[in-house]
Amino acid sequence: MAHYDVLIRHGTVVDGTGSGRRRGDVAIRGDRIVALGALDTDTADTVIDATGRIVAPGFIDSHTHDDRYLTATPQMPAKLSQGVTTVITGNCGISLAPWKARAGQPVPQPLNLLGDDPADFRFDTFAAYLADLESRPSAVNAACLVGHTALRVAAMERLDRSATDAEIEAMRGLLREAMDAGAIGLSTGAAYPAAMPASTAEMAGVIEAMRGTGGVYASHIRDESDRIFEAMDEAIAVGAAGDAPVVLSHHKLIGKHNHGRSVQTLAHIARAMQTQPVALDAYPYTAGSTVLRKDRLPVSSRVIVTKSVPHPEHAGRDLDDIARDMGLSPEDAVDALQPAGAIYFLMDEQDVQRILKFPATMVGSDGIPHDSAPHPRLWGTFPRVLGHYCRDVGLFTLEEAVHKMTGLTATHFRLPGRGRIAPGYFADVTVFDAGGIADLATWDQPTRQAAGIDAVLVNGAIAWRDGAGTEVYGGRVIRRSDAAVG
Ligand code: ZN
Repeated sequence: MAHYDVLIRHGTVVDGTGSGRRRGDVAIRGDRIVALGALDTDTADTVIDATGRIVAPGFIDSHTHDDRYLTATPQMPAKLSQGVTTVITGNCGISLAPWKARAGQPVPQPLNLLGDDPADFRFDTFAAYLADLESRPSAVNAACLVGHTALRVAAMERLDRSATDAEIEAMRGLLREAMDAGAIGLSTGAAYPAAMPASTAEMAGVIEAMRGTGGVYASHIRDESDRIFEAMDEAIAVGAAGDAPVVLSHHKLIGKHNHGRSVQTLAHIARAMQTQPVALDAYPYTAGSTVLRKDRLPVSSRVIVTKSVPHPEHAGRDLDDIARDMGLSPEDAVDALQPAGAIYFLMDEQDVQRILKFPATMVGSDGIPHDSAPHPRLWGTFPRVLGHYCRDVGLFTLEEAVHKMTGLTATHFRLPGRGRIAPGYFADVTVFDAGGIADLATWDQPTRQAAGIDAVLVNGAIAWRDGAGTEVYGGRVIRRSDAAVG
């Protein structure tokens, strides 16, 4: 008879590997899972009755912009309420380091996706950013990418051209510093004006500094519309230059005439995977969200403004209605609302389903926590995959769905000891009701908490129980050096 800190009894374990479920108890001591199986005679300080519930690894949000949310809202309710225990930050070329604005200096788009106040929460070095995260831990773990656009802003006088050799060398130095500090890899966002002028050679030149470090490369590709194949090939080539596994971020096809082409893009990715590690992330909605930009208007059937600094009263309203009230064209209203964010309805449901179902697709929310009326993916992504797409639509088995948000993500992002229910693994655990799990966040009520998550443990401590956070801040920074061992 053994005694543990926590015993999760009588649940159905879906272990994150994709293999079949089995009944059993999960025993935790300290921050680790230490035993699994029929542990009827064992005892524990805390017992969680999981009868009729699924016991899964804590979900890993493969695509976030939570860089600042971690310290601004350390309880991380949008994440814990969905069963998420680890977030990957620094996506789309956007990170809080290594660039800090001088007083009065505006934050260039899209770095302002992480907030508009330039002064107090950005960092000159990645080491300083990670030290800050560790000095005031949040409720979930974080693994952090460094953004190429942040490197550009730090190393270049102007952003309307490709970098010179000297600037590429400077960015290599900053990337090296970030990797040494514990960044898990590099992200780029050549779809945004601040990085659009960057050539393939610039990105390949910068990422060379990552060779041999075990870093990962995540790409918000240059074009998700007519030139998507060239853009995917560019990302795969940049990854090869850094000897890095590639993540194609929030894979989607924009523009009506491109709808249905996921048949070809996924076949293309499957071919690339034969010679190089490539994976993708996706969120379960037909609308995207980012900063408010005019070039999205012609390809969107509807646009909802998620925030506006000069006009906060318009957050949550349709752009067309705002424009009418302002007596402006939608294009002029875009100018009047800046800096601003928006939701764009521009995808096809069949593409979304086909992409989610693809074996190399990880679930990633791409949620934007600083918008006042955010895209509901921020609060709904994981329960929507498990409830709507898995249970109700039958797109995949529960084991596959859980794998896409745990084991697959931990493997591709090289997060050892995470993403699996097995002895020796970190005790990041989510207990949920497969019959009742549901996303409740909608376009009109975008921050409604999901239903069906019973308990969430992070590094062995109960962080969420019965619909609320426990104010336990046990999240850790998962550093690349951690990734190198085990
Ligand atoms: Zn992106």
